[in-house]
Amino acid sequence: MGNDFFRSFEGSEVDEGDLLADVAVEKRSTHLDLTIRISGYVMIPCDRCLGIFSYPLESENRLLVKFGNVHDESDPEIFTIPHDEHELDLGQYLYESVLLALPIKRLHPTDSSGNYLCDPEMIKQLGKHIAEETKQTDPRWDELKKLMNN
Ligand SMILES: [Zn+2]
Repeated sequence: MGNDFFRSFEGSEVDEGDLLADVAVEKRSTHLDLTIRISGYVMIPCDRCLGIFSYPLESENRLLVKFGNVHDESDPEIFTIPHDEHELDLGQYLYESVLLALPIKRLHPTDSSGNYLCDPEMIKQLGKHIAEETKQTDPRWDELKKLMNN
């Protein structure tokens, strides 16, 4: 699963990465028991500096596939497919598994002393931008300054 895979999903949060999916299938009398391991990395933006960084991703999921009358993927743990269907498209399932494996807080990794390996140039730019914005949009500061100068 690479860039083309992610870009095939509209509005994808992730559009770059390189992942391998390993699907082990065990046939049972009534269903298939799938163990799906995903490993690799995705490129995601850091919440702090907005720089793109490589996030190592590992996930393991179990999916049961039953045979029934209609195609039903509404339960994320048990898919139902018709008896005459011999192929299962796991694209959407893998994509969602990747999104679920992403952390809520996405930050650059830290170095050995616990400092985030953020882009220092970006942090500087963002800081400048925020400072300028508060200067421009808050006239109360000017009033306050006048008062303090008197
Ligand atoms: Zn960062």
